[in-house]
Amino acid sequence: MTTPEKVIREDVRAVTAYHVPPAAGMVKLDAMENPYGLPDALRREIGELVEGAAINRYPDPAALALKARLRSTMQIPDEFDILLGNGSDEIIQVVVLAAARTGAVIMAPEPTFVVYRMAAAAAQLRYVGVPLRSDFTLDADRFLAAMAEHRPAVVFLASPNNPSGNLFPEPDMERIVAAAPGLVVVDEAYQAFAGRTFMGRLARYPNLLIMSTVSKLGLAGLRLGYAVARPEWTREFDKMRLPYNVGVLAQLVGEKLLAHHSVLEEQAAAIRSERARLGARLAQIAGVTPFPSDANFILVRVPEAPRVFEGLKRRGVLVKSLHGSHVLLANCLRLTVGTPQENRQLVAALADTLAET
Ligand SMILES: *Cc1c(COP(=O)(O)O)cnc(C)c1O
Repeated sequence: MTTPEKVIREDVRAVTAYHVPPAAGMVKLDAMENPYGLPDALRREIGELVEGAAINRYPDPAALALKARLRSTMQIPDEFDILLGNGSDEIIQVVVLAAARTGAVIMAPEPTFVVYRMAAAAAQLRYVGVPLRSDFTLDADRFLAAMAEHRPAVVFLASPNNPSGNLFPEPDMERIVAAAPGLVVVDEAYQAFAGRTFMGRLARYPNLLIMSTVSKLGLAGLRLGYAVARPEWTREFDKMRLPYNVGVLAQLVGEKLLAHHSVLEEQAAAIRSERARLGARLAQIAGVTPFPSDANFILVRVPEAPRVFEGLKRRGVLVKSLHGSHVLLANCLRLTVGTPQENRQLVAALADTLAET
């Protein structure tokens, strides 16, 4: 009899699946989603668009209309090309697969976004994580030394970094790009909350790719990510992309929402000011140490993260526990910035949980 053991790779069977806990009825602050819905008028416009959509047809494989809108909204210079993905997760996979020569190395500071490591493992590549300092700042000298030793084909730099929330200093990032023997992907998933982009460096560095997504901006359910790089790079990655990776509805709705980008920008501004308020309140709770954030979440260290996580859950608040995922993340929880009301619930539940003995 044919069983999965005879067919599926050993390394695939050995991994534990990425777990997303059920969140029905909870204050959901675990996944960096924008808590604000869209205005009614815009929802109606989307309804009409979907009503008229030709979903019997395959999507435009080049997504020309959406790309043109993305270019004008995100001020992408004409000399660079855009690659679209079903979320930027897919772009990570495409880049890693295209670079997957035997023995190739993927490198990133650690702790960081887990999908870099997952994509490397799926392509059976070696992943080298270079530890950040204990305060999650980038040790550029250590990173440069690791690059010299391991000669990575692809380096991923998430800035702001997930799960720490901090930006890496631009001069350090430039040193890494200048010294890298391969491609450097700067992942700007949280750009809307940081107000800083490396896009302007594309002209100077031929081995740089800027990746972003509309997910954290408020459209996580759409699944739309993008990369910007010189055509020499995007041309190759485009061959690895499956032809219809961005569906008709994602293209239509993405284009419409980018035309109303100011709505999303205003929501991002509200989240940024809530972040400051939440950070200040967290710092006042005895035992809670928040780390500085330029993203839409705040990493905190608490006395006993697993117990605090459960206490919050019992009080109806779902956050992400990172305890056990990396030595530097011992007793850390990642809290997504929600609405003012949700953040008040979070702070109350946290204070309540910590007061329990
Ligand atoms: C959330 C996240 C992404 C993935 O975004 P999608 O476009 O939703 O796939 C990429 N990079 C980082 C650093 C993230 O935190």
